[in-house]
Amino acid sequence: MTKQSVMVSEPQTAGVNNMMEIVAKSSSLFSSMEMNTDNGYNFAIKKQFLKKLETSVVGVDKGTTRVNAWVDSMRASSPPRLNSTMDNDQSWMMQHPSALNMFDEIINASKGKQIVMFLDYDGTLSPIVADPDRAFMSESMRTAVRDVARYFPTAIVSGRSRDKVYSFVQLAELYYAGSHGMDIKGPAKGPRNNKTNKPVLFQPANDFLPLIDEVTRILIEKVQSTPGALVENNKFCVSVHFRCVEEKRWNDLAELVRSVIKEYPELRMSQGRKVFEIRPTIKWDKGKALEFLLESLGYANSTNVFPIYIGDDLTDEDAFKVLRERDQGFGILVSKFPKNTNASYSLREPAEVKDFLCRLVEWKRYSRRMISRV
Ligand SMILES: [Mg+2]
Repeated sequence: MTKQSVMVSEPQTAGVNNMMEIVAKSSSLFSSMEMNTDNGYNFAIKKQFLKKLETSVVGVDKGTTRVNAWVDSMRASSPPRLNSTMDNDQSWMMQHPSALNMFDEIINASKGKQIVMFLDYDGTLSPIVADPDRAFMSESMRTAVRDVARYFPTAIVSGRSRDKVYSFVQLAELYYAGSHGMDIKGPAKGPRNNKTNKPVLFQPANDFLPLIDEVTRILIEKVQSTPGALVENNKFCVSVHFRCVEEKRWNDLAELVRSVIKEYPELRMSQGRKVFEIRPTIKWDKGKALEFLLESLGYANSTNVFPIYIGDDLTDEDAFKVLRERDQGFGILVSKFPKNTNASYSLREPAEVKDFLCRLVEWKRYSRRMISRV
């Protein structure tokens, strides 16, 4: 099995560097440099490039350049796409093969270990739709997730509020990590499926609740002038969706949101798939949520655990990176296109995620039958 083969992100600092990371990744120049490095990530080139961008941002036309940089990154879905050529596509698929095609290798690697499933929601279990309130998952997907949870501890990790994502998934036997992992709760019913058998509830950003409510109110008022823009309060973070906003208005929207957030140094702004994410500056993300859940399940220092994380978003990269660093399990990126990612494998769309989950269940049932015959 080819493990952890391509990219390791450089540690990030807050503020402009975060933005630069997004800009750099979405630039075609940067993408082609990445593809030219042999199975690796050239930190020196990246640093140089980031420096150039940073210099241009702090230059004379600071405001305009910053906004243009945002708009460039907004045009790309995230994680940013790489240059698409026949050779690049083939090379990417070699480095991030289909998790369905590599199913047997994956199962062999998990031998003797406890699989733990982590699933993003939007774009992973449900298709991306224009209205985020209508991002429903299919009944067959719900059945697949329910079946997986019968055999493996399973968590939904989403940028949405925990209540919202629960209202979509409707499975009380799962763990839920809402608000990018800032709101974690164990199963409401059924076996907790963990070694510690302790209830799980963790909300590291509780102090930020009044601030998030305040910013949500201001943003709702401000974006009224931008047709199609939608503000979603995700309890510990806020999303400003621009999927339905005309591209010619993106500039103004980015500037408008930024002008609100700059008054709140306790908050930071990042970008997902056609959405701005505003969240507390605390060092907590989906990767930290994954580690917290493994610890809660009793696998903090275990070598017998095999976490599988499936997601499609830039915010899922934090979890993919944690798995690389732990050298445990692997990440699967849901994408139809080559993208810069820390994931080891790929699936093209939610329908393939469902197929993968079903195969996992079939394999588990089959191996149980075999054991009971012995
Ligand atoms: Mg997603």
